[in-house]
Amino acid sequence: MREVQGQVVVIGAGIAGLAAAHRLLERGARVTVLEASDRVGGKLLPGEVAGARVDLGAESMLARRPEAVALARAVGLADRLQPPATATASLWTRGTLRPFPKGHVMGVPGTASALAGVLSEEGLARIERDAELPRTEVGDDVAVGEYVAERLGREVVDRLLEPMLGGVYAGDAYRISMRSAVPQLFQVARTHTSLTEGVRELQAKAAAAQQTGPVFMGIRGGIGTLPLAVADSVRARGGEILTRTPVTELRRTPEGGWQVGSGEREWRADAVVVAAPAPVAARLLRAETPGAAAELDAVEYASMALVTLAYRRDETALPDGSGFLVPPVDGRTIKASTFASQKWGWIADDNPDLVVLRTSVGRYGETEILQRDDRELVEVSRHDLKAATGLDATPVATRVTRWDGGLPQYPVGHHARVARIREHIARLPGLAVCGAPYDGVGIPACIASAYAAVDQIHGDAGGVEELTAHPVQSLHGGAGE
Ligand SMILES: Cc1cc2nc3c(=O)[nH]c(=O)nc-3n(C[C@H](O)[C@H](O)[C@H](O)COP(=O)(O)OP(=O)(O)OC[C@H]3O[C@@H](n4cnc5c(N)ncnc54)[C@H](O)[C@@H]3O)c2cc1C
Repeated sequence: MREVQGQVVVIGAGIAGLAAAHRLLERGARVTVLEASDRVGGKLLPGEVAGARVDLGAESMLARRPEAVALARAVGLADRLQPPATATASLWTRGTLRPFPKGHVMGVPGTASALAGVLSEEGLARIERDAELPRTEVGDDVAVGEYVAERLGREVVDRLLEPMLGGVYAGDAYRISMRSAVPQLFQVARTHTSLTEGVRELQAKAAAAQQTGPVFMGIRGGIGTLPLAVADSVRARGGEILTRTPVTELRRTPEGGWQVGSGEREWRADAVVVAAPAPVAARLLRAETPGAAAELDAVEYASMALVTLAYRRDETALPDGSGFLVPPVDGRTIKASTFASQKWGWIADDNPDLVVLRTSVGRYGETEILQRDDRELVEVSRHDLKAATGLDATPVATRVTRWDGGLPQYPVGHHARVARIREHIARLPGLAVCGAPYDGVGIPACIASAYAAVDQIHGDAGGVEELTAHPVQSLHGGAGE
């Protein structure tokens, strides 16, 4: 491993910033992490409801990519890693909870055979036309919803793809980039005429590669404990983490280094990693690279809220499985629910008298629902939960966590925007960016982007190349929010 010389400032102590700091320290740099809020972790947030420890932000990490699980191991959490207790998720559609059909990539099916009940007769027949239709050209990028609707019909988009994408991106399938959000499907679209044939091939390849371990992994105590452990490890290696320190200025020095300002305070650094959300990165980069700032200004975000509810176990009966997704076309308010006590063994073990579950509300462009106060969000959640599962008990405690600007959106052309941002940044030695706005919003992708940023800082060839070749999501079996 090559050494990084000198002092590096990392801006933002979300999982990307912390992973960058961790990697920089491994490579011998001196590191200071500056974090605006009073805690580390960003979108990873441990908390509690009715005394039960739970995640109030991200709650699971893809295990089919190595970065997140490897980082958890590296910071001493190996014996706390725990896969979901159940991988079965449901779809609440047409008034009933149905098992989410198996054999799909991000909701896109390899065959129509498992979809009876979920799709109408016409919807099922439309899928079969995929085999006869001429090739659909995708060019440099295409909205995933547009492409899938053309091949398999709108019902597949509305009832399968949309709830899956809503779970990961809180976005709109007809805007989201297939190339950035579901790169495996983009590859298939480039090389195959029939989409279902391509999906079946992806599944066969995954099976041949013996990808049989858990698709997702959790951590006993919550995914929110990961940034805390990384932060501990950063400090143990001599790194400094300052919370309540919002960076307000970033300038090059005449000597070619960097000057980082937070109000009256100032740091000098040989290199800087900006691991803050896009609007903040835009503000900080405006002075030195207005081109990158303009591109970052154009990155839009979706906001959402999570409603966590705790019930007495003896008053609560839920259907089996880890929870359910909801197609927006059905007009419900919640977009998903996770039965946390059923999904995570550690939550059930720690709280034998409670059942904890959560719902999520808010998608890209849906602003009205998030104007409602906490009490109303709890009420709409209870209303929808009752309709979906029959759960009519009164929760012993509830908690609403709002994530304004929670998830960056990857519209068509996102990859080209990210390439332009990186071109601008590459002209400024000792500067790198990482985190959710760039190469994937999932935790492993954010960590990978942090490692690529570290590679870039000391000029290792290949970091970014390798990163963009990585799939953002692997074959997906379960529901998330
Ligand atoms: C509700 C929700 C649920 C999710 N669930 C999952 C999941 O289950 N699995 C999964 O893989 N992904 C999930 N995601 C996505 C994933 O959690 C995020 O994309 C990822 O954590 C982002 O990490 P980050 O470090 O890039 O950014 P952030 O977590 O946003 O961290 C950025 C940090 O920068 C700080 N900052 C901002 N401005 C400044 C400034 N001026 N100076 C210094 N610091 C600043 C912020 O305070 C923050 O701490 C979820 C996201 C949300 C919102």
